[in-house]
Amino acid sequence: MATRVACIGECMMELSERPDGSLLRGYGGDTLNTALYLARLGVAVDYVTALGDDPWSEEMLAAWAAEGVGTGQVRRLPGRMPGLYIIRTDGSGERSFHYWRDSAAARDLFSGPGAAETQGALAGYDLVYASGISLSLYGEAGRAALAETCRAVQAKGGRVAFDTNYRPRGWPDKAKAQAAFRDAMAAADLIFASSEDLEWLYGSDGEEEVLRHHGRCEIVLKGGGSPPSVRVLAGTEDVTVPAPPVDTIVDTTAAGDSFAAAYMAARLAGRSPAEAAACGHRLAGTVIGHRGAVIPRSAMPDLPLA
Ligand code: ADP
Repeated sequence: MATRVACIGECMMELSERPDGSLLRGYGGDTLNTALYLARLGVAVDYVTALGDDPWSEEMLAAWAAEGVGTGQVRRLPGRMPGLYIIRTDGSGERSFHYWRDSAAARDLFSGPGAAETQGALAGYDLVYASGISLSLYGEAGRAALAETCRAVQAKGGRVAFDTNYRPRGWPDKAKAQAAFRDAMAAADLIFASSEDLEWLYGSDGEEEVLRHHGRCEIVLKGGGSPPSVRVLAGTEDVTVPAPPVDTIVDTTAAGDSFAAAYMAARLAGRSPAEAAACGHRLAGTVIGHRGAVIPRSAMPDLPLA
Protein backbone atom coordinates (compact mmCIF):
# COMPACT_ATOMS: atom_id res chain seq x y z
CA MET A 1 0.00 0.00 0.00
CA ALA A 2 1.26 3.50 -0.81
CA THR A 3 2.72 5.49 2.04
CA ARG A 4 0.22 8.10 3.21
CA VAL A 5 1.43 11.45 4.44
CA ALA A 6 -0.56 14.06 6.37
CA CYS A 7 0.56 17.71 6.48
CA ILE A 8 -1.03 19.67 9.32
CA GLY A 9 -1.41 23.44 9.45
CA GLU A 10 -3.10 26.51 8.09
CA CYS A 11 -3.55 28.00 4.66
CA MET A 12 -4.61 31.64 4.59
CA MET A 13 -6.04 33.92 2.00
CA GLU A 14 -3.27 36.12 0.62
CA LEU A 15 -3.92 39.62 -0.69
CA SER A 16 -1.01 41.34 -2.45
CA GLU A 17 -1.36 45.09 -2.58
CA ARG A 18 -0.51 46.64 -5.93
CA PRO A 19 0.87 50.18 -6.33
CA ASP A 20 -2.63 51.53 -7.11
CA GLY A 21 -3.97 50.03 -3.85
CA SER A 22 -5.93 47.23 -5.49
CA LEU A 23 -5.49 43.75 -4.08
CA LEU A 24 -4.55 40.58 -5.91
CA ARG A 25 -5.98 37.43 -4.33
CA GLY A 26 -4.15 34.16 -3.72
CA TYR A 27 -3.62 31.80 -0.81
CA GLY A 28 -0.64 30.46 1.07
CA GLY A 29 0.72 28.57 4.05
CA ASP A 30 3.99 26.81 4.89
CA THR A 31 2.68 23.27 5.40
CA LEU A 32 0.35 23.61 2.43
CA ASN A 33 3.36 24.42 0.24
CA THR A 34 5.03 21.25 1.48
CA ALA A 35 1.87 19.20 0.82
CA LEU A 36 1.55 20.61 -2.66
CA TYR A 37 5.16 19.82 -3.59
CA LEU A 38 4.86 16.33 -2.07
CA ALA A 39 1.81 15.74 -4.28
CA ARG A 40 3.71 16.96 -7.33
CA LEU A 41 6.48 14.51 -6.49
CA GLY A 42 4.00 11.64 -6.55
CA VAL A 43 3.48 11.19 -2.79
CA ALA A 44 -0.05 10.40 -1.52
CA VAL A 45 -0.62 13.37 0.79
CA ASP A 46 -3.59 14.88 2.59
CA TYR A 47 -3.73 18.41 3.93
CA VAL A 48 -5.20 18.42 7.42
CA THR A 49 -6.72 21.69 8.53
CA ALA A 50 -10.06 23.38 9.20
CA LEU A 51 -11.83 25.82 6.89
CA GLY A 52 -15.17 27.62 6.93
CA ASP A 53 -18.19 27.21 4.67
CA ASP A 54 -17.51 30.45 2.75
CA PRO A 55 -16.75 30.77 -0.96
CA TRP A 56 -13.00 31.30 -0.39
CA SER A 57 -12.73 28.10 1.63
CA GLU A 58 -14.44 26.33 -1.28
CA GLU A 59 -11.99 27.88 -3.70
CA MET A 60 -8.99 26.75 -1.65
CA LEU A 61 -10.29 23.20 -1.45
CA ALA A 62 -10.80 23.07 -5.21
CA ALA A 63 -7.31 24.47 -5.85
CA TRP A 64 -5.65 21.94 -3.52
CA ALA A 65 -7.58 19.07 -5.08
CA ALA A 66 -6.53 20.25 -8.55
CA GLU A 67 -2.91 19.97 -7.36
CA GLY A 68 -3.49 16.39 -6.25
CA VAL A 69 -3.51 17.20 -2.52
CA GLY A 70 -6.08 15.07 -0.65
CA THR A 71 -8.78 17.12 1.10
CA GLY A 72 -10.65 14.31 2.86
CA GLN A 73 -9.38 15.43 6.28
CA VAL A 74 -10.28 19.11 5.97
CA ARG A 75 -12.84 19.94 8.68
CA ARG A 76 -15.46 22.50 7.68
CA LEU A 77 -16.61 24.77 10.51
CA PRO A 78 -19.95 26.45 9.75
CA GLY A 79 -19.88 30.23 9.99
CA ARG A 80 -16.08 30.40 10.22
CA MET A 81 -13.55 31.79 7.74
CA PRO A 82 -9.93 31.20 6.77
CA GLY A 83 -7.28 33.60 8.10
CA LEU A 84 -6.08 36.39 5.84
CA TYR A 85 -2.92 38.41 5.26
CA ILE A 86 -2.00 41.36 3.11
CA ILE A 87 1.44 41.78 1.59
CA ARG A 88 2.40 45.41 1.24
CA THR A 89 5.43 46.35 -0.85
CA ASP A 90 7.07 49.70 -0.13
CA GLY A 91 8.82 51.96 -2.64
CA SER A 92 12.14 50.12 -2.27
CA GLY A 93 10.56 46.71 -2.95
CA GLU A 94 10.65 45.64 0.72
CA ARG A 95 7.64 43.49 1.63
CA SER A 96 5.74 43.56 4.91
CA PHE A 97 3.07 41.07 6.03
CA HIS A 98 -0.10 42.05 7.92
CA TYR A 99 -2.34 39.35 9.43
CA TRP A 100 -5.97 38.78 10.40
CA ARG A 101 -5.84 35.26 11.70
CA ASP A 102 -6.90 35.13 15.37
CA SER A 103 -10.34 33.73 14.56
CA ALA A 104 -9.29 31.55 11.63
CA ALA A 105 -11.06 28.19 11.40
CA ALA A 106 -7.71 26.36 11.26
CA ARG A 107 -7.01 27.27 14.90
CA ASP A 108 -9.81 24.96 16.04
CA LEU A 109 -8.60 21.80 14.33
CA PHE A 110 -7.91 20.17 17.70
CA SER A 111 -10.83 21.60 19.66
CA GLY A 112 -14.62 21.38 19.56
CA PRO A 113 -16.84 18.79 17.96
CA GLY A 114 -15.03 16.80 15.31
CA ALA A 115 -11.57 17.10 16.88
CA ALA A 116 -11.62 13.49 18.11
CA GLU A 117 -12.46 12.35 14.60
CA THR A 118 -9.50 14.28 13.17
CA GLN A 119 -7.20 12.81 15.81
CA GLY A 120 -8.43 9.29 15.07
CA ALA A 121 -7.95 9.72 11.33
CA LEU A 122 -4.45 11.18 11.75
CA ALA A 123 -3.34 8.16 13.75
CA GLY A 124 -3.67 6.04 10.60
CA TYR A 125 -1.07 7.92 8.52
CA ASP A 126 2.45 6.64 7.85
CA LEU A 127 4.05 10.06 8.17
CA VAL A 128 2.64 13.16 9.84
CA TYR A 129 4.34 16.51 9.16
CA ALA A 130 3.79 19.74 11.12
CA SER A 131 5.78 22.95 11.55
CA GLY A 132 6.44 25.45 14.30
CA ILE A 133 3.82 27.65 12.65
CA SER A 134 1.30 24.79 12.97
CA LEU A 135 2.11 24.57 16.69
CA SER A 136 1.49 28.29 17.16
CA LEU A 137 -2.11 27.89 15.97
CA TYR A 138 -3.52 25.60 18.61
CA GLY A 139 -2.83 26.88 22.15
CA GLU A 140 -1.78 24.60 25.03
CA ALA A 141 -4.78 22.25 24.89
CA GLY A 142 -4.63 21.89 21.11
CA ARG A 143 -0.88 21.24 21.22
CA ALA A 144 -1.45 18.56 23.86
CA ALA A 145 -4.05 16.95 21.58
CA LEU A 146 -1.60 17.09 18.67
CA ALA A 147 1.13 15.52 20.82
CA GLU A 148 -1.25 12.74 21.86
CA THR A 149 -2.10 12.19 18.20
CA CYS A 150 1.59 11.94 17.29
CA ARG A 151 2.11 9.29 19.95
CA ALA A 152 -0.82 7.35 18.46
CA VAL A 153 0.78 7.61 14.99
CA GLN A 154 4.06 6.24 16.35
CA ALA A 155 2.30 3.47 18.30
CA LYS A 156 0.93 2.24 14.98
CA GLY A 157 4.39 2.29 13.39
CA GLY A 158 4.06 5.68 11.68
CA ARG A 159 6.53 8.56 11.89
CA VAL A 160 6.34 12.20 12.85
CA ALA A 161 8.25 15.01 11.12
CA PHE A 162 8.66 18.51 12.57
CA ASP A 163 9.96 21.59 10.79
CA THR A 164 11.14 24.41 13.06
CA ASN A 165 9.46 27.27 11.23
CA TYR A 166 9.46 30.00 13.88
CA ARG A 167 7.44 33.19 13.47
CA PRO A 168 7.65 35.22 16.71
CA ARG A 169 4.34 37.02 16.13
CA GLY A 170 2.47 33.71 16.31
CA TRP A 171 3.40 33.30 19.97
CA PRO A 172 2.27 35.21 23.09
CA ASP A 173 5.87 35.07 24.38
CA LYS A 174 9.16 33.40 23.54
CA ALA A 175 9.11 31.06 26.56
CA LYS A 176 5.93 29.36 25.28
CA ALA A 177 7.49 28.86 21.86
CA GLN A 178 10.73 27.52 23.37
CA ALA A 179 8.82 24.94 25.41
CA ALA A 180 6.53 23.92 22.55
CA PHE A 181 9.47 23.49 20.13
CA ARG A 182 11.40 21.50 22.74
CA ASP A 183 8.45 19.12 23.19
CA ALA A 184 7.92 18.81 19.43
CA MET A 185 11.60 18.07 18.75
CA ALA A 186 11.67 15.48 21.55
CA ALA A 187 8.63 13.73 20.03
CA ALA A 188 9.71 13.82 16.36
CA ASP A 189 11.34 11.07 14.30
CA LEU A 190 12.56 13.56 11.68
CA ILE A 191 13.47 17.18 12.44
CA PHE A 192 14.04 19.89 9.85
CA ALA A 193 15.76 22.66 11.76
CA SER A 194 17.01 25.97 10.46
CA SER A 195 19.95 27.34 12.40
CA GLU A 196 18.39 30.80 12.05
CA ASP A 197 15.12 29.68 13.73
CA LEU A 198 17.07 27.90 16.45
CA GLU A 199 19.20 30.96 17.15
CA TRP A 200 16.17 33.27 17.34
CA LEU A 201 14.57 30.87 19.77
CA TYR A 202 17.42 29.64 21.93
CA GLY A 203 20.32 31.99 21.21
CA SER A 204 23.77 30.39 21.04
CA ASP A 205 22.38 27.11 22.48
CA GLY A 206 20.17 26.67 19.41
CA GLU A 207 22.02 23.91 17.61
CA GLU A 208 22.56 22.02 20.84
CA GLU A 209 18.78 21.98 21.38
CA VAL A 210 18.34 19.93 18.24
CA LEU A 211 21.63 17.98 18.23
CA ARG A 212 20.77 16.43 21.61
CA HIS A 213 18.32 14.28 19.64
CA HIS A 214 21.11 12.89 17.44
CA GLY A 215 20.95 9.10 17.43
CA ARG A 216 17.31 9.02 18.50
CA CYS A 217 15.96 10.60 15.32
CA GLU A 218 16.93 11.91 11.90
CA ILE A 219 18.02 15.56 11.86
CA VAL A 220 18.30 17.88 8.89
CA LEU A 221 20.08 21.00 10.08
CA LYS A 222 19.87 23.83 7.57
CA GLY A 223 22.70 26.31 7.95
CA GLY A 224 23.03 29.88 6.77
CA GLY A 225 25.35 31.24 4.11
CA SER A 226 24.85 31.65 0.41
CA PRO A 227 24.64 29.06 -0.96
CA PRO A 228 23.73 27.33 2.31
CA SER A 229 24.66 23.82 3.42
CA VAL A 230 22.61 21.27 5.27
CA ARG A 231 24.02 18.81 7.78
CA VAL A 232 22.14 15.53 7.94
CA LEU A 233 22.48 13.25 10.95
CA ALA A 234 20.82 9.86 10.66
CA GLY A 235 21.96 6.87 12.69
CA THR A 236 25.75 6.84 12.42
CA GLU A 237 25.69 9.04 9.32
CA ASP A 238 26.72 12.69 9.67
CA VAL A 239 27.11 14.37 6.29
CA THR A 240 27.13 17.97 5.10
CA VAL A 241 25.56 18.61 1.72
CA PRO A 242 26.15 22.07 0.22
CA ALA A 243 23.45 23.60 -2.00
CA PRO A 244 24.56 24.20 -5.58
CA PRO A 245 24.72 27.92 -6.38
CA VAL A 246 21.56 29.39 -7.91
CA ASP A 247 22.15 31.88 -10.75
CA THR A 248 19.37 34.32 -10.03
CA ILE A 249 17.46 34.26 -6.77
CA VAL A 250 14.08 35.84 -7.46
CA ASP A 251 12.05 35.06 -4.32
CA THR A 252 13.00 32.77 -1.42
CA THR A 253 9.37 32.15 -0.36
CA ALA A 254 8.79 28.42 0.27
CA ALA A 255 12.51 27.52 0.02
CA GLY A 256 12.39 25.53 3.24
CA ASP A 257 8.89 24.14 2.57
CA SER A 258 9.86 22.77 -0.83
CA PHE A 259 13.19 21.47 0.52
CA ALA A 260 11.29 19.46 3.16
CA ALA A 261 8.89 18.06 0.54
CA ALA A 262 11.67 16.84 -1.76
CA TYR A 263 13.69 15.47 1.18
CA MET A 264 10.73 13.46 2.49
CA ALA A 265 9.70 12.26 -0.98
CA ALA A 266 13.25 11.01 -1.57
CA ARG A 267 13.48 9.27 1.81
CA LEU A 268 10.07 7.64 1.24
CA ALA A 269 11.41 6.43 -2.13
CA GLY A 270 14.34 4.75 -0.35
CA ARG A 271 17.05 7.34 -1.05
CA SER A 272 19.83 7.92 1.50
CA PRO A 273 19.79 11.04 3.69
CA ALA A 274 22.56 12.65 1.59
CA GLU A 275 20.70 11.88 -1.66
CA ALA A 276 17.50 13.23 -0.12
CA ALA A 277 19.29 16.46 0.86
CA ALA A 278 20.51 16.83 -2.73
CA CYS A 279 16.91 16.41 -3.93
CA GLY A 280 15.83 19.05 -1.40
CA HIS A 281 18.44 21.49 -2.72
CA ARG A 282 17.44 20.78 -6.30
CA LEU A 283 13.76 21.58 -5.75
CA ALA A 284 14.35 24.51 -3.37
CA GLY A 285 16.98 25.93 -5.74
CA THR A 286 14.39 25.89 -8.52
CA VAL A 287 11.64 27.37 -6.33
CA ILE A 288 13.78 30.38 -5.35
CA GLY A 289 14.42 31.09 -9.02
CA HIS A 290 10.70 31.88 -9.46
CA ARG A 291 8.31 34.41 -7.99
CA GLY A 292 5.88 33.13 -5.34
CA ALA A 293 5.69 29.94 -3.31
CA VAL A 294 4.38 27.69 -6.05
CA ILE A 295 6.30 27.42 -9.31
CA PRO A 296 4.66 26.46 -12.61
CA ARG A 297 4.32 22.71 -13.04
CA SER A 298 6.44 22.93 -16.16
CA ALA A 299 9.34 24.25 -14.06
CA MET A 300 9.39 21.26 -11.67
CA PRO A 301 12.84 19.62 -11.77
CA ASP A 302 13.16 15.91 -12.45
CA LEU A 303 14.26 14.39 -9.17
CA PRO A 304 15.81 10.90 -9.02
CA LEU A 305 13.02 9.38 -6.91
CA ALA A 306 12.07 6.25 -8.82
P1 ADP B 1 13.78 28.74 4.88
O1 ADP B 1 14.32 30.00 5.49
O2 ADP B 1 12.55 28.91 4.02
O3 ADP B 1 13.71 27.58 5.84
P2 ADP B 1 16.40 28.10 3.95
O4 ADP B 1 17.11 29.40 3.96
O5 ADP B 1 16.67 27.12 5.05
O6 ADP B 1 14.84 28.32 3.79
O7 ADP B 1 16.72 27.40 2.55
C1 ADP B 1 16.11 26.20 2.22
C2 ADP B 1 16.80 25.64 1.02
O8 ADP B 1 16.67 26.55 -0.09
C3 ADP B 1 18.30 25.47 1.18
O9 ADP B 1 18.62 24.26 1.83
C4 ADP B 1 18.75 25.46 -0.28
O10 ADP B 1 18.44 24.23 -0.87
C5 ADP B 1 17.83 26.51 -0.89
N1 ADP B 1 18.49 27.84 -0.83
C6 ADP B 1 18.17 28.88 -0.03
N2 ADP B 1 18.99 29.94 -0.25
C7 ADP B 1 19.84 29.57 -1.24
C8 ADP B 1 20.94 30.20 -1.93
N3 ADP B 1 21.32 31.43 -1.63
N4 ADP B 1 21.58 29.50 -2.89
C9 ADP B 1 21.21 28.24 -3.20
N5 ADP B 1 20.20 27.59 -2.58
C10 ADP B 1 19.53 28.23 -1.62
